[in-house]
Amino acid sequence: MNLILFGPPAAGKGTQAKRLVEQRGMVQLSTGDMLRAAIASGSELGQRVKAIMERGDLVTDEVVIALIEERLPETQAAGGAIFDGFPRTVPQARALDDMMAWSANRIDVVVRLKVDDDSLLARVAKRFEEQGRTDDNPDSFKVRLDAYNRNTAPLLPYYEGQGKLVEVDGMGSIDAVAQAIDAALAR
Ligand code: AMP
Repeated sequence: MNLILFGPPAAGKGTQAKRLVEQRGMVQLSTGDMLRAAIASGSELGQRVKAIMERGDLVTDEVVIALIEERLPETQAAGGAIFDGFPRTVPQARALDDMMAWSANRIDVVVRLKVDDDSLLARVAKRFEEQGRTDDNPDSFKVRLDAYNRNTAPLLPYYEGQGKLVEVDGMGSIDAVAQAIDAALAR
């Protein structure tokens, strides 16, 4: 099974992806984690994307599509892929459909975690204090939320049109959200 965890920044996608990895042996493909690793390693890619990410803007489609393409083969050998933070634009979603089709594969379900803006702001303020992630500062977070509303939310009709969209209330506890996701995947 291949699934997309979809939602605004700080909706809980990473947390739920990690649980699914542990429980189902799936592979988490987080473009945000891959880009942060590139920055930490000081690679040429890392140097190119650092300022963009700190501002909260999206990096180019080309960069993230290449990162995903490189990692797709390993997901097929495992129990499938969990896309976390990818796709974030319509061209990324189209590229993902094409890449999956080349290997006779497909996205099975898109789980949308719904969390209201006030809760996102409260969560990210807490995360900023606890983890100090640079792009969780209030100015960058506003840019990230704007990018979500402008570039990523338009993917909802794209996946709804494919009949793959399932909405889950992301406001509850981690366990309650996990249960709701499991129910959605069992449908
Ligand atoms: P995330 O950890 O998913 O919140 O991503 C952190 C940052 O990495 C984003 O704010 C973007 O700057 C960049 N990023 C991650 N994934 C993507 C993507 N699919 N498309 C464009 N930029 C991305």
